[in-house]
Amino acid sequence: MSNLEPNEPHVGVYICHCGGNISDVIDVKRVATELGLHPNVVISREFPFMCSDAGQKLVIEDIRSGKINRVVIAACSPMLHELTFRKTLQRAALNPFLYEHVNIREQASWVHKGDHEGATQKAIRLARAGVEKILLQDELEEIQAKATKHVLVIGGGPAGLKAALNMAARNLRVTLVEKSSRLGGHLHELDTLYPSGESASALLAKLLAQVNESPLITVVVGTTVTAWDGFVGNFTATLSSGATVNAGAVIMATGYDHVIPAGGEYNYGGDPRVTTLPKLIEHLKTSAGKPLVWNGVPVKSVAFIHCVGSRQTEGVHAPQADGKVNDYCSRVCCTAALHSINVLKARQPDLDIYDLYRDIRTYGRGHEAIYEQASKNGVLFFRFTEDAQPEIREHTVVVKDILTWGEEVEIPADLVVLVTGIKQGAVGELIDMMKLPVSSDRFLQEAHPKLRPVEVANNGFFLAGNCQAPMDLVESSAAAGAAASKIAALLSKDYIPLDPYVARIDSEKCTGCEACIPECSYTGALFMNEGTKKAEVNAALCKGCGACVAVCAPRALDLAGWSIAQMEAMVDAMVTEVPA
Ligand SMILES: Cc1cc2nc3c(=O)[nH]c(=O)nc-3n(C[C@H](O)[C@H](O)[C@H](O)COP(=O)(O)OP(=O)(O)OC[C@H]3O[C@@H](n4cnc5c(N)ncnc54)[C@H](O)[C@@H]3O)c2cc1C
Ligand code: SF4
Ligand code: SF4
Ligand code: SF4
Repeated sequence: MSNLEPNEPHVGVYICHCGGNISDVIDVKRVATELGLHPNVVISREFPFMCSDAGQKLVIEDIRSGKINRVVIAACSPMLHELTFRKTLQRAALNPFLYEHVNIREQASWVHKGDHEGATQKAIRLARAGVEKILLQDELEEIQAKATKHVLVIGGGPAGLKAALNMAARNLRVTLVEKSSRLGGHLHELDTLYPSGESASALLAKLLAQVNESPLITVVVGTTVTAWDGFVGNFTATLSSGATVNAGAVIMATGYDHVIPAGGEYNYGGDPRVTTLPKLIEHLKTSAGKPLVWNGVPVKSVAFIHCVGSRQTEGVHAPQADGKVNDYCSRVCCTAALHSINVLKARQPDLDIYDLYRDIRTYGRGHEAIYEQASKNGVLFFRFTEDAQPEIREHTVVVKDILTWGEEVEIPADLVVLVTGIKQGAVGELIDMMKLPVSSDRFLQEAHPKLRPVEVANNGFFLAGNCQAPMDLVESSAAAGAAASKIAALLSKDYIPLDPYVARIDSEKCTGCEACIPECSYTGALFMNEGTKKAEVNAALCKGCGACVAVCAPRALDLAGWSIAQMEAMVDAMVTEVPA
């Protein structure tokens, strides 16, 4: 029997085994016993899988029985299951924020595999801190932001077109903004497409017809976004045309730029025989099935060199404008090169083609068949390493072929095609303006590669296509569809629920000193009320970063759900000895 008064916090603690992920390292029974000694903990259990139906049922029954009114679950990362358990509390009619998720998997069992005693002690300290935190938790309410049922798509390439069509199919209004004078992006440059062999022009015409027919899609070309304001559910974009678009969510579909070989790389720019894959494809598109003629000279032999401007290594390759090399694989270029080779061979079977590669990465469905077809077409393959790159000589290319134990082979080449990669487009201004996260390869970064692959950490921003990473059309289209369905769910109600972990101000304590204002990096989140001369928070814009809290001398500012008192209690719990 508990000695607690009914209105006091009664905490239920649940320690998850995670099917051995936790319990193989941590003594979960001991953690449960130790936590059960806390005066406010009335139930302390361990269970094989807390996220399972049976695990959640346990929590629901304990709440419904009236034994507990606060919950701590010590399990995996909150990234995975915080929302699961909030919903569990809701099903038991308890405020979902009276719950603390403690990570004893990534933060204890996984990182201290070889130290069972240390991991167990750490799990006890973390779980105790969770209990102390939840004891001081208010009954928070989610914030509700108005949901404007209108979506802005930036970039009118294939990914942007597909995203707009997908959203219109879900009855959402879309404004599609394209900075160039026409929709279509790089599809304009392509000839026949791998893996289907379909004509790029025909595909583009089909997409444009569908977009033009949709009464829900407004297209604006020759313009981009020049100013940005607002928050999820209610963004305002100012376009270079001066118009203003109000949108509940935004899809970034700004695509890619081709890598241009660095000055002199493989004699590019100096030797007229040296070109790039995109230029060859454009030539194939305009030369309508005719044998290959380059600079007026009929071509009898072609050498392709892979990985130009991709998979670069510091010290070996010249850096890009920002001082970094492109160390990523551009993914589409192996298959695009082999597809073009097959197109050339179909036109001109007696053309000698040599393919100089580091690795062949024909990773997609049906792409390996393109590689096989190139082999069957008599293409000769040579493999080089990054520290022994092929050398362009007059009429020939020399390669140290590791398929023949590093033998130096001299290949005739009337034309050399550099298989250039792709890079992030010139979207630096948009990134700065919208404060978008960028990964080390300069592409826009998703919130989580597996759990939230088309969402940006910034609420209301989504990604489609090559602005996120090199992708072919199938992948770009899949990303566009995924982003559209995420947005449809986001804007399905009249409001968007947001976490309540934001700054709050005790206006009695606020002296109006304004010290907090410059600390906030989120426009509009924190401001001075001209009338009261006190600071105020716009909860929909606040990200709960806590920067303002740190500078408020009279402690008028605090974070809901992460208050200073909660932090102090957690630290005290962490540093309290655990009996051996
Ligand atoms: C050499 C090569 C060959 C390829 N061949 C194939 C193939 O055969 N099959 C296949 O499936 N894939 C192929 N691909 C991949 C294909 O090109 C891409 O998957 C596709 O173009 C991606 O579409 P996207 O909309 O993401 O980007 P993009 O095609 O780059 O379109 C982006 C659009 O956004 C616009 N934009 C950029 N910045 C802004 C801004 N600030 N404001 C407004 N608009 C902006 C651009 O003007 C552009 O219209 C190939 C790629 C390369 C490099
Ligand atoms: S796809 Fe092929 S050519 Fe392109 S960077 Fe990757 S390995 Fe190199
Ligand atoms: S720092 Fe504190 S006291 Fe000063 S304006 Fe901000 S909230 Fe008010
Ligand atoms: S918590 Fe961060 S985002 Fe919110 S008002 Fe303070 S500084 Fe701005």
